[in-house]
Amino acid sequence: MKATSDVVVVGAGPYGLSAAAHLNAYGLKVRVFGETMSFWDRNMPEGMCLRSPWEASQLSSPGRPLTIDAFQAATGKEVSRPIPIKRFVEYGRWFQSHAVPNLEQRKVAEIEREAGGFRVRLADGEVVRCERVVIAGGIAPFAVKLPQFAGLPRELASHSSEQRDLTRFRGQKVVVIGGGQSALESAALLHECQADVELMVREGAVQWTWQRPWLHTFQPIGVVLYAWPDVGPAFISHAVARPNLYRMLPRSVQDSWRIKSIRPNGVGWLKPRLRDVNISTGLAVLSAAARGDQVELKLSDGSHGLVDHVLMATGYHVDVRKYEFLATSLVSALRLVDGCPILGRGFESSVPGLHFLGAPAVYSYGPLMRFVAGADFAARTVATTVTRARRTVGRQIAHPLREPPTVVAHRISEEA
Ligand SMILES: Cc1cc2nc3c(=O)[nH]c(=O)nc-3n(C[C@H](O)[C@H](O)[C@H](O)COP(=O)(O)OP(=O)(O)OC[C@H]3O[C@@H](n4cnc5c(N)ncnc54)[C@H](O)[C@@H]3O)c2cc1C
Repeated sequence: MKATSDVVVVGAGPYGLSAAAHLNAYGLKVRVFGETMSFWDRNMPEGMCLRSPWEASQLSSPGRPLTIDAFQAATGKEVSRPIPIKRFVEYGRWFQSHAVPNLEQRKVAEIEREAGGFRVRLADGEVVRCERVVIAGGIAPFAVKLPQFAGLPRELASHSSEQRDLTRFRGQKVVVIGGGQSALESAALLHECQADVELMVREGAVQWTWQRPWLHTFQPIGVVLYAWPDVGPAFISHAVARPNLYRMLPRSVQDSWRIKSIRPNGVGWLKPRLRDVNISTGLAVLSAAARGDQVELKLSDGSHGLVDHVLMATGYHVDVRKYEFLATSLVSALRLVDGCPILGRGFESSVPGLHFLGAPAVYSYGPLMRFVAGADFAARTVATTVTRARRTVGRQIAHPLREPPTVVAHRISEEA
């Protein structure tokens, strides 16, 4: 069956949009599917701020003209630091409208292999045939829920990705479980909207990063200790920022540095906001049961109590078998390690022509891939790999490297 597109990109978050921007610029026939910034818009709490610094929160396009600074200049919308999620979503939408105007806000239902490429079936029934597929489907299906809460309805116990508007818990007693940025920020937001919140951390203490901001920003010290994306501990951060170098390290070193770089912690600016929040460390929930409109918790210190809601900010465990759109035959052809595909050059999996970007690339390209900062490297790499592969098979590209889109600065008056 003849392919109708060169590449299909699945996903319109930071990775999908950046990859599509670069692929578009090479003049390939690209179809892009997904809802613009949907995970940020719907699965993170309103009022949240990004933990990643300014430089590490940029989407990538050829020449990088579509930065957050360009967004501010073009729209007149001011972006404060740390970056509020509302503005980041607006930035993503603005980026999409300039760099990926060919995005189709449609859902992919199934991807299957067929002779000469892939068959991509959309939820509305259309079938697209393509030579390559770039999957940037994000982490939403990988949310980790604790088994202790398995029998409870969502009204009583939910994952943090299921709660966008935390003000609905005003006046209620809420336990937040977890010790990472998401747990800490959710606890702060709940406290600020007058919920009676307790943060329960399994570890003996909450770990903080950016406690002394000058260590990250004061030159030349900051630049020696931390690379620009600021992912990972001092010095290790430099290897993390160079995925091609990171890939060459012995596997044991990669695994150890990956764990160190993405272990749960909170950014220092949250600390004052948690001053009046009750934080219990070294404590875990042993069991939970519904008692009318409330949940009864039995805790590891022998105590028990009733709460109105339990919010599990317990993170995400990558397992691409949970991407419902991957056909079973495709999944069984993937070489996986603990749910992550093993990726070769150009983020290509063991299924030729099938690429994975974002969190599923963590095993092969390192912890940078868990963050927006990795989108630039991933997008450039996948676009050059796909383009070279096309040249190798002797097919001409219509308009190699089109000029990057120009941004016309115009001010739009609106509320701050
Ligand atoms: C609470 C929280 C806070 C975070 N804060 C930061 C931060 O400050 N800085 C940072 O760098 N990282 C942060 N992260 C990590 C962040 O999620 C990732 O960096 C980023 O979202 C990865 O982008 P992505 O493009 O891979 O995925 P996503 O942004 O999740 O995008 C996935 C895309 O796939 C699309 N999609 C999914 N399934 C289908 C389908 N079947 N058909 C079509 N489209 C589909 C969706 O519509 C969406 O457009 C945070 C994560 C969480 C949970």
